[in-house]
Amino acid sequence: QYILAIETSCDETAAAIIRNGTEIVSNVVASQIESQKRFGGVVPEVASRHHVEQITIIIEETLEKAEMKPSELTAVAVTEGPGLVGALLIGINAAKAFAFAHSLPLIPVHHIAGHIYANALVAPMQFPLLALVVSGGHTELVLMREHGSFEVIGETRDDAAGEAYDKVARVLNMPYPGGPHIDRLAHEAQVGVDFPRAWLEENSYDFSFSGLKSAVINYKHNMDQRGEEIDPKKVAKGFQDSVVEVLTTKTLRAAREFQVNQVIAAGGVSANKGLRTSLEQAFEKECISFTVPPLKLCTDNAAMIGAAASYMYNAGVRGDLAMNGIPGKELKSWI
Ligand code: ATP
Ligand code: MG
Ligand code: FE
Repeated sequence: QYILAIETSCDETAAAIIRNGTEIVSNVVASQIESQKRFGGVVPEVASRHHVEQITIIIEETLEKAEMKPSELTAVAVTEGPGLVGALLIGINAAKAFAFAHSLPLIPVHHIAGHIYANALVAPMQFPLLALVVSGGHTELVLMREHGSFEVIGETRDDAAGEAYDKVARVLNMPYPGGPHIDRLAHEAQVGVDFPRAWLEENSYDFSFSGLKSAVINYKHNMDQRGEEIDPKKVAKGFQDSVVEVLTTKTLRAAREFQVNQVIAAGGVSANKGLRTSLEQAFEKECISFTVPPLKLCTDNAAMIGAAASYMYNAGVRGDLAMNGIPGKELKSWI
């Protein structure tokens, strides 16, 4: 089984071919970071234009690298949502055209299911499983009792973790996307500024990062008023320590409560060194298997979409040419 997958939900134009849901045959990602940098974030219209220019080239390159012809493919998968509607539609229309031209089934994939299934490319999933999804637009704990079954047991009430990283980076005058820069700076400080942790109600698995973000902004503002220079390394470390501690503690508590056999991390922020180390240590001590994708499978890519699609294909999920982009699509079970 060979699935051609396409992902264009945000600012990466990506395509990949996945064999049997576990093996990457080819994986191509064209990032727009350089052109989006000058705007300090992703401008939807700019993203769509880049996707239009890139998509055909990226799909061809993916087939070439795999040394495969369309006739050898089993299905075409594409991200249906959530994401920027104009960006999603470029990938969806490319996928529809390809599927129609080569008489292949079409599989609509949820972007976050894709992030989670990046882990299926690392090791077989063991259920029940707890996924910590931390990305640019999402922060949630998802319980999976089997393939294709998703229960969101907690989520952010305001900013996503990645969003908080990007906003704090802006305060520190660092370029977009800020996550990797803060991560690097945080490791250069011994002690961080003491910022608050948002635990919310005692039993809650929800998250909140806007208070932390405001605390960083206020700290900078107060220092400016006093004519003092902030130390970006200490701010980065203080911020990262707060994010990592809350994410690790809540994930650990949920893993215990639901007695899971595996914990996985997914999404762009799971590329964070501090978070990876903290989760690895916590679950090693707890004797629960922990998996996180290699860095380039944490941020947006199409290999993860192909991995999820493979299990969807096996479960009989099919889309059709009427499929549309769904910007606010919810994570629903497919079984
Ligand atoms: P979503 O997946 O929720 O739709 P998205 O696709 O825009 O959002 P991703 O591509 O999964 O998000 O992740 C991008 C985010 O990951 C950005 O906010 C970026 O700052 C963050 N990020 C990337 N690397 C790191 C890192 N090392 N540390 C912290 N954050 C990081
Ligand atoms: Mg991105
Ligand atoms: Fe993403």
